[in-house]
Amino acid sequence: MKYYLTTPIYYVNAAPHIGHTYTTLAADTIKRLKRMQGYEPVLTTGTDEHGQKVERSAQAMGKSPAEFATVISNEFRSLWDRIGIQYDHFIRTTEARHHETVKWLFNRCLERGYIYKGSYTGQYCVPDETFHNDLKPGDPCPVCGRPTEIVTEENYFFKLSAFTDKLLKFYDENPDFILPEARRNEVLAFVRGGLTDLSVSRTTIQWGIPIEGKHVVYVWFDALTNYLSVAKDKDESLWPADLHLVGKEIARFHAVFWPAFLMAADLPLPKRVFAHGWLLFENDKMSKSRGNIVRTDPIREVMGIEALRYFLFREVVFGQDGTFSYDALVTRYNSELANGLGNLASRTLTMIKQYRDGVIPSASTELSVDHPLAAAARDAIDTASRAFDTFEFSKGLEAIWAMLSEVDRFIVEQAPWKLAKQPEAAQQLSDALYASAETLRIAVALLYPVMPESTANIWSQLGMTSDLATLELAKLAWGQLATGQPIGVIAPVFPRIEANSAIDRMRALEEVETARQAKLFGKEVPAKSEEPASEGTLLPPSPKIDIDDFVKVDIRVGKVLTAERVKGADKLLHLTVDIGEPEPRTIVAGIALSYQPEQMVGRKVAIVANLHPRKLRGIESNGMIVAASLEGAKPVLAGFLEDVPVGARLK
Ligand SMILES: [Zn+2]
Repeated sequence: MKYYLTTPIYYVNAAPHIGHTYTTLAADTIKRLKRMQGYEPVLTTGTDEHGQKVERSAQAMGKSPAEFATVISNEFRSLWDRIGIQYDHFIRTTEARHHETVKWLFNRCLERGYIYKGSYTGQYCVPDETFHNDLKPGDPCPVCGRPTEIVTEENYFFKLSAFTDKLLKFYDENPDFILPEARRNEVLAFVRGGLTDLSVSRTTIQWGIPIEGKHVVYVWFDALTNYLSVAKDKDESLWPADLHLVGKEIARFHAVFWPAFLMAADLPLPKRVFAHGWLLFENDKMSKSRGNIVRTDPIREVMGIEALRYFLFREVVFGQDGTFSYDALVTRYNSELANGLGNLASRTLTMIKQYRDGVIPSASTELSVDHPLAAAARDAIDTASRAFDTFEFSKGLEAIWAMLSEVDRFIVEQAPWKLAKQPEAAQQLSDALYASAETLRIAVALLYPVMPESTANIWSQLGMTSDLATLELAKLAWGQLATGQPIGVIAPVFPRIEANSAIDRMRALEEVETARQAKLFGKEVPAKSEEPASEGTLLPPSPKIDIDDFVKVDIRVGKVLTAERVKGADKLLHLTVDIGEPEPRTIVAGIALSYQPEQMVGRKVAIVANLHPRKLRGIESNGMIVAASLEGAKPVLAGFLEDVPVGARLK
């Protein structure tokens, strides 16, 4: 049976951040879960690319709107690829297949009398070419501050007012159409308040889907139709969608406008809209103006994407608002993944290797039903399966971790390391090892949708050869682990992470990523960490020298190729620097308190090239990087305002 689920299409007027990732990871998790439940899931995502903001951003970049939209659309798509999202189709609203569907739906609604031509009157900013809906006559433009004018524009309207009762009846007959309950209540209240007709075209915007004369389709009629475009293009039987996954801020559009458009066109309605809550940053709403938006790549690079997946679905009750912080991420990772699941896996597998030659031992028959771990596993399978089915991920994960702590207690109680020394306890030892490994197998199977990569890894360390992705969850039960199965190669899955340095690195990478993303929109963001190099003591000038003395010092322009911290030395960075020679130089520099390794890569620096090599912390440093500082203050690197070739000599 098919299961068609969608993420919203993301608007290309912003680069991807953790909020987009949250929705998309949820969709990916649900898709993987549905496959394990026996469905053939199809997941679509994509980008929303029309509108005036995109037109303007493109203009500011000296690009066409199509070129600009492509750049940002690729940002989304490549991020989803980097973090392993299993989307089947990626749709862009600028594609011909989408234009066709929007025009088709528009005409269908028009023919059936639900779209009509009318006029829209509002406060218009002429230089900005924008209507500002909330203004009264005489109000200035909220964007540029200039006076606005009353302008009347011809628009097409969708007869949303005709659907108030039909929608209320539909919600009543389909109580699960919009979830969770709190969102459903908001939507009901909004619709009960009465619906007014909706303008669905503009003549003041060019960048959109043209329909007639100067009209282009406006925002929601264009964007929402993407879900239908994919089905019409790929496989008509996909429609209706089984699940539209959205953030709560767009729940209303999906639960009110979209079903109304479809009713008007006499098309089947999607089965469910699930609206998740907002991800706050340390309890604040993330926003551009607060400067507290978190991006995904820094977390991926430092912690791995599985850590983020686990954190988001364990920490936040799916459907409600939740808080992200680097600190909580690292804490949960260390206590629940490194010390929890990861430790259990390596302990269990290592004991099987040590005491049973790496083969799953055969267990006594009574292990099948009455064993305390068998009962714990049954509970976990029941609770987690039911919770995941209703998208209560945190509850499901909690149940799985309850089972894991049972195993931990069991291992301590049984003390296999003692049993191994008692020949008469051989069967008890086999039983203990089997029970631990079997619980681990069940945990990993249940956890696959949330952490696909690391669970598949543990799965094969257990010696399992079947594809975990297609395991049938309904058939998962205690006692299926085959005795005599050789385990795989044991390797740590969740190495412990040092909190402070991990957080520092994520924050540093976040600044680099923020600046990179800002550039995509033609903006420069100064790095936040740049502190004035004040403080310290001014030293008296050194004694005079001759020019001959100075030319003895060979200073070259170099480009940093790689940079990393020197273990155990918090002031040192280990660099490789190209100064135009056949081989790059290895240089150890005492600048780690002022510069993150990531900031150094690609940077042009001045290098003293003819110093005798010297060893620092066992690394031979072949040159010195030139930096300035007052005595006792942080060093600031010498650099060049204009571009200068690598190898050029400073004179
Ligand atoms: Zn204006």
